[in-house]
Amino acid sequence: MSEYDYDLFVIGAGSGGVRAARLAAELGKRVAIAEEYRIGGTCVIRGCVPKKLLVYGSRYGAEIEDARAYGWDYADLRFDWSKLIHNVQREVDRLNGAYTRTLEKAGVERFLTRASVEDPHSVRLADGDRVVSAEYILVATGSAPAFPDIPGKEHFISSNECFQLEALPESIVIMGAGYIGMEFASIFAGLGVSVTVLYRGVQILRGFDMDLRDELAEALRDRGVDLRMNTNVAAVEKQGDGYRVVLEDGESIPASRVMAATGRKPNTENLGLEAVGVELGPNGRVVVDAYSKSTVDSLYAVGDVTDRANLTPVAIREGTAFVETVFEGCPNAIDYSFIPTAVFTEPEIGTVGLTEGEAREKTNVDIYKASFRPMRATISGRDEKVLIKLVVDAGTDKVLGLHMLGSDAGEIAQMAAIALRLGVTKQQLDATMALHPSVAEEIVTMRQKWEPPVPIKGSDAAA
Ligand SMILES: Cc1cc2nc3c(=O)[nH]c(=O)nc-3n(C[C@H](O)[C@H](O)[C@H](O)COP(=O)(O)OP(=O)(O)OC[C@H]3O[C@@H](n4cnc5c(N)ncnc54)[C@H](O)[C@@H]3O)c2cc1C
Repeated sequence: MSEYDYDLFVIGAGSGGVRAARLAAELGKRVAIAEEYRIGGTCVIRGCVPKKLLVYGSRYGAEIEDARAYGWDYADLRFDWSKLIHNVQREVDRLNGAYTRTLEKAGVERFLTRASVEDPHSVRLADGDRVVSAEYILVATGSAPAFPDIPGKEHFISSNECFQLEALPESIVIMGAGYIGMEFASIFAGLGVSVTVLYRGVQILRGFDMDLRDELAEALRDRGVDLRMNTNVAAVEKQGDGYRVVLEDGESIPASRVMAATGRKPNTENLGLEAVGVELGPNGRVVVDAYSKSTVDSLYAVGDVTDRANLTPVAIREGTAFVETVFEGCPNAIDYSFIPTAVFTEPEIGTVGLTEGEAREKTNVDIYKASFRPMRATISGRDEKVLIKLVVDAGTDKVLGLHMLGSDAGEIAQMAAIALRLGVTKQQLDATMALHPSVAEEIVTMRQKWEPPVPIKGSDAAA
């Protein structure tokens, strides 16, 4: 019999923590998990899932409008926010129940309370102020929205509150132009809210391929989103029922709501980690090795709290690899290359592999681009464009990156990720038969290399 209460204690029941707890319990390990908010974590409760449901909701207005040209007619089109958000919350509740039952079925003991690390083998539970012991502790506490330190920051809402809004605001100012900010800009704009995005950098979506950044910015502006780059906010003030966002140049913008989508911070505050010898990196992330082990042997960390690639499938994969490494004697280090990513704006972005800028830093590349009006828009008349771009290693012919803007770009990037990961070459893409008529057929029919007007190097790293 082990000297500890549990073989594994997991702090945080989100994507990474739930997966690790369940798998370890299914191996017959004695596992407990603590969650201070709701089982399911960010993805299920206030991230990917409710967000994607709002994305679907926000797209119907334009789709119904487009349907007129296809012969459909209707009268009295109205949108009811309370119905949408209520239905989204109902689905979140269902998933919260499903995740709870999964843990229960696997035999994981659940503590609905905050937990912190007491020593390398003990966890303090805030509820009842108890201490329990475990051979291994897994920190899977995720991350939380981080606000800029400016006067009036108490008026900000984050993505968390967007899922709880009782009423749809008439107007919203969104600070920040990362993927969360842009997705909410697109959701709100699709629902008829007047949206202004303020960002201090030169273009939206830093880190994505520059062509996608430029095309999406143009498409969102066409849809009425007021995108203001190189713009710094000085303060946020209450004004009547709403707010006033004061810019550093003295201009001010009135808004019913002000959202900060200015990044996230790993949840390591007051977790007791440093006191037991766990090294924290910049932004408070837990420093881990390739196997997710911290600087303390019995303490591992997975998911957003380690700030590696902050996505749900990555947290899940890290949780799985942790169990394989620690409990199955099968050390597994994750390969972080070719992680497909989507930005669920309208139009959508799907991307996998290196951007043109990143690739040019490493090697000589050939670029292939197709930009066209999708067939659907020929009848609807909507001013819509699809962009597909391939980044190819000029020496080996391997496809290093695929970047797409257009409908279903996320779904297409997921499939493309398989081929890119397997090392597909441009020649092999060319040899693949097209599926006609489809948008994705362009991926296998692009023949003409794109030549830059002037030689360029690493352009999409710009803020
Ligand atoms: C608005 C939004 C949209 C997103 N969209 C996508 C998307 O489309 N695709 C995608 O792949 N990713 C998306 N993400 C990112 C994704 O949600 C995260 O990468 C993922 O949830 C990380 O999982 P995790 O297990 O590390 O942490 P989390 O899922 O955040 O779980 C951590 C859990 O720990 C709990 N916790 C924290 N501290 C303690 C403590 N001391 N004691 C007890 N419990 C604690 C928290 O309450 C939380 O439930 C989105 C995120 C946001 C915010």
